[in-house]
Amino acid sequence: METKSRLAAVFFWSLPGESSVIAVNVSQLLKLPPGTTREFEFSDPLSELSPEVELTAPVEGRARLLRTSRGILASTEYQTALRQECGRCLSPVVVQIQGLSDDEFQPKVDVGTGLVLPEQPESVELAIDERHVLDLTEVIRQDLLTRLPLRPLCERDCPGLCPGCGQDFREGSCSCGQEAQNTSPFADLAKLLQRNGSGEGSS
Ligand SMILES: [Zn+2]
Ligand SMILES: [Zn+2]
Repeated sequence: METKSRLAAVFFWSLPGESSVIAVNVSQLLKLPPGTTREFEFSDPLSELSPEVELTAPVEGRARLLRTSRGILASTEYQTALRQECGRCLSPVVVQIQGLSDDEFQPKVDVGTGLVLPEQPESVELAIDERHVLDLTEVIRQDLLTRLPLRPLCERDCPGLCPGCGQDFREGSCSCGQEAQNTSPFADLAKLLQRNGSGEGSS
C-alpha cells in the first residue's frame, strides 16, 4: 500500500500567505505518469462563502488527486457546519454539512516547458494555473451550496410562532385567538394555495 498521507507533505504545500484558499501546487504530480495518486488533508475557514453562508466550523476534509492523461482528477470529501434560521420559529440552527465532489482539473501550461497548452481547461474553476496550482475552493463552494437545507428546523416538531401575534408556541399558547400552526409539511402549501386562490374574502 502507498503511504499517501506521508508523501503529501513532500509533494504538496499550501500557498504561503493565502490561508483561506484550499489550493496545492501539483507541479510534481503533473510530471508523474497517469494513474499516480496523492492525497492531502485540508482545514480552511473558507471565508469566500460569507456573507452568503455563515460557517460555524472550518471546512475540513481530504482530497485524493489522480493523475490522468489530461490533467488531475480530484476526489474531495469535506465536512463543515453553518448557521441558519429555523424555518418555523426563526431561532438559530446549526446545520452539519458533508459533501463530496469529483472534478477533473486541466493544466493551462505544460509543466515541463511552461508553454501554453493547445487544449485549454473547460472552465476557470477547473484550471491548474500557470504556477501549477490546483484550487478546490470553487468546487467545494458550489457543492456546498447545493447541500444547504431549504427549510432547516431547530427540532423535528418545532411548533413555530403564532401567525397572529408571534408568540413562540414552545413557551405556551397565546390569547390572540389563532390556532397553533399545523406543522405538517403540507400546511405551508395549503396556506399558499389559500393566498393565491380567489377566496380572499374576510371571514
Ligand atoms: Zn424552530
Ligand atoms: Zn397569537
